[in-house]
Amino acid sequence: MAYKEPAPIKDKENPFESMMSRFNIAAEALGLDDETYEVLKSPTRQVIVHLPVTMDDGSVRVFEGFRVIHSNILGPSKGGIRYDKGVFLDEVKALAAWMTWKCAVVDIPYGGAKGGIICDPSTMSAGELERLTRAYTVALIDTFGPDQDIPAPDMGTGPREMAWLMDEYSKTKGMTVNSVVTGKPLVLGGSLGRVEATGRGVMVSAMAAMEVLGMDPTQSTAAVQGFGNVGSSTAKLLAERGVKILGISDVSGAYWNPNGIDIAGAIEYKNAHNGRLEGYAGAEPISNDELLTSAVDLLVPAAVEDVITARNADQIQAKLIVEGANGPTSANADKIINEKGIMVVPDILANSGGVTVSYFEWVQNRLGYKWSLEMVTERSDRIMTEAFNKVYATSLKYNVPMRIAAYIVAIDKVAQTYKFRGGF
Ligand code: GLU
Repeated sequence: MAYKEPAPIKDKENPFESMMSRFNIAAEALGLDDETYEVLKSPTRQVIVHLPVTMDDGSVRVFEGFRVIHSNILGPSKGGIRYDKGVFLDEVKALAAWMTWKCAVVDIPYGGAKGGIICDPSTMSAGELERLTRAYTVALIDTFGPDQDIPAPDMGTGPREMAWLMDEYSKTKGMTVNSVVTGKPLVLGGSLGRVEATGRGVMVSAMAAMEVLGMDPTQSTAAVQGFGNVGSSTAKLLAERGVKILGISDVSGAYWNPNGIDIAGAIEYKNAHNGRLEGYAGAEPISNDELLTSAVDLLVPAAVEDVITARNADQIQAKLIVEGANGPTSANADKIINEKGIMVVPDILANSGGVTVSYFEWVQNRLGYKWSLEMVTERSDRIMTEAFNKVYATSLKYNVPMRIAAYIVAIDKVAQTYKFRGGF
């Protein structure tokens, strides 16, 4: 008899199904009609591309890439591109839908999309990544556009990749089109404040949540899971507000200091060590699971999907979870978290500061005018605070958790817009 792999412990849910299960609860609470439900439940368009790229050794490798447009009801679709060896279509579909809800929650005139390429950027040279990014851009040249679909960075990509994308798109069109992509380097029309924008929004959401919960930031402790762009900016900004960060983590492991971690020092260490915390001596090494269930007031998952699951949710000690990552809590964990009375500021609200400043970047590009950092942060803080207040009021009105309230706000906005626009 052929060897059969034991069934894996089902810790990882299908992210699209996870998204849909929340969508269904919110649609029901809202009394969404069947027609609009049908329109919103499936992505508008899914593109799969195969990209032949010449590697440095002269061989040609074919990479698979995706772009999913979930919705363009509110405006051109918006969303990042993920470079990851594990990225898959249903994940990109979920991430695209989350972009639709995110843009609707913060009330910016965009639909939702997401892209992904199955690759391991850590093993590829800059030249290989550049050729891959340019090949992806050409393959999707008719999909992308400042009024159609506007990419941005996500996991595994950053300003460098966005610069290549903008250049390739512009060359193909025969003119400079910087508004086709956001998250660009400053010299190419990137916005001041974009790099820290997601982390800043997470911090602003955390402050708003602490206020309604009666928590004093200067008397509160936190653990931040993930120390990439989002996690490190969040940790830094929370520490600046007086929150004591006891634990941080990245792919190399988790680090704990009961007296508080010197976040500026940890960021400096990471920057000097290939972007990793490995060997960081300012804290004791602990496991990632210990970090998530540690005795802190605030937990910020800021890395990947499905880290808070039915397996560890009942051990979580934090009173407040603010989701820097997209989809860090699996749908199966929602019930356990709610029963424990933990407030969750959900991803589609908490991490929408990134796309908000992306919107500002696009506006600046189209105006051909640059805003000051003060203007960017003042406006994005205001948008985040207003969005939080709206979601909080909705959670009280419908007597639902913040996550479902955020979906209600988002679905209601998209549904109302769809009603006015109409179908065929
Ligand atoms: N990738 C980011 C997100 O998940 C940013 C998207 C954007 O700026 O368009 O929100």
